Amino acid sequence: MIKIEDLFKNKDECCGCELCANVCPKNVIVMHDDEEGFFYPHIVDQDKCIDCGLCLNLCPIKSIDKTQSQFLEFYAGSLVDKKELASCASGGLATAISKAIIKDGGIVYGVSYSDNWQGVQYERIISNVSINQLKTSKYVQARKNDIYQQIADDLRLGKTVLFIGLPCDVAAVNRKFVNAASHLFTIELICHGPTSCKVQKQYCEKLEKKYGSKLEFFSMRYKKNGKWLPFYIYATFKNGAKHVELFHSSIYGASFRYLKRPSCYTCKIKGSKLTGDLMIGDYHYVEKGMPGYDPGGVSVALVHTDKGKKLLALCQEAFSIIRIDPQGGLANGAIHRAFQVPERRNEFEIAFVRHGIVKAGKLPFVILSTLKRNLKYFIMKMGVKVKRIIIPSSGLK
Ligand SMILES: Cc1cc2nc3c(=O)[nH]c(=O)nc-3n(C[C@H](O)[C@H](O)[C@H](O)COP(=O)(O)OP(=O)(O)OC[C@H]3O[C@@H](n4cnc5c(N)ncnc54)[C@H](O)[C@@H]3O)c2cc1C
Ligand code: SF4
Ligand code: SF4
Ligand code: SF4
Repeated sequence: MIKIEDLFKNKDECCGCELCANVCPKNVIVMHDDEEGFFYPHIVDQDKCIDCGLCLNLCPIKSIDKTQSQFLEFYAGSLVDKKELASCASGGLATAISKAIIKDGGIVYGVSYSDNWQGVQYERIISNVSINQLKTSKYVQARKNDIYQQIADDLRLGKTVLFIGLPCDVAAVNRKFVNAASHLFTIELICHGPTSCKVQKQYCEKLEKKYGSKLEFFSMRYKKNGKWLPFYIYATFKNGAKHVELFHSSIYGASFRYLKRPSCYTCKIKGSKLTGDLMIGDYHYVEKGMPGYDPGGVSVALVHTDKGKKLLALCQEAFSIIRIDPQGGLANGAIHRAFQVPERRNEFEIAFVRHGIVKAGKLPFVILSTLKRNLKYFIMKMGVKVKRIIIPSSGLK
């Protein structure tokens, strides 16, 4: 009979993909959140376990292939439609590919906010209008609900399915649907790790209290005046109020830095064989004047498979793309390295659990780290400006 230690002994051994709970034929496993707000499997009815082994065999963390991923090609680019680009996280590649899949009659799985903005979950999307709810990054671990079952149903009906998610969620999907290779496409986001749903909930509650009204819209990666960086939290309320603040200066940004899922600090997926067809993320290595630069945001695409190439070919008209060298394509540290446990995470966690996000965000060392971060960003920006004045052609390749 299954024991919880069979699934994971330490919290960092479970990435929260929820696959074990979804595949158990006897509903022995359910997901519950811990005090930080991250979800873990729990054994609720051990006697019902029939020892079928499905939960253990499919767990993506237990079946990691330690061979390094090989990438075939590297690209960077942005959406041609600049209005649409402004509503996406980076260059809008996820949106461009999703729309192309829908146009061809396929189904897209991605992540949206819940109706009250306090939750984040994977959704099945069948129309271009609904793609809007997937747009832009939610730096929160998304609940899976019944997506594994929905994907199974779509694949059985012969539908083309595109799943876009964090690399460990993609690993879970590919583990479960290993035989569906031809009409299942998967895209991994480059990932430093999410914070918890509890952070999202408490931050939204704080805003609603401050403005005395319910949220009407919320984005944590808003492009002010269409400019990609730095990004802002942007919220509007039913009473007409509006809230705008720099993400990294906010208590939300602090929680994102200090309170990632424990598995992200020892991410088993990084440095192993990635299972997606394509990996996408932010491309920060182009400056004004260089080919591929767009102040509205630039995506990077790392192609793993021929199916990944097909995905890029699908959105050729909507997405302007250039080929880049492997050095540029692999420059983003989040592709290979796990995020280091921040010094004093423990203290942040204790304050968050006992007193909530507001008190945790006001800890002196948190305020200091935010100031340091802002200063570093300012110096970097000034450095680029000075470089351009001294060597006007320095931005050109
Ligand atoms: C938690 C997290 C950490 C990230 N860390 C990095 C990083 O360190 N470096 C980097 O280069 N890029 C990182 N990214 C990816 C980056 O923020 C963009 O999401 C990515 O570049 C796609 O941009 P886009 O313009 O193509 O997306 P859009 O066209 O705006 O579409 C957004 C896509 O992201 C998906 N998505 C949004 N939130 C989530 C979520 N919580 N879980 C799973 N999927 C989600 C949506 O379903 C949609 O497909 C991270 C993303 C997340 C969610
Ligand atoms: S071994 Fe089978 S029945 Fe037992 S918990 Fe795992 S999936 Fe459920
Ligand atoms: S990683 Fe996924 S399958 Fe493995 S124990 Fe955690 S939730 Fe279950
Ligand atoms: S850092 Fe690793 S474990 Fe954490 S969400 Fe990303 S892929 Fe999953």
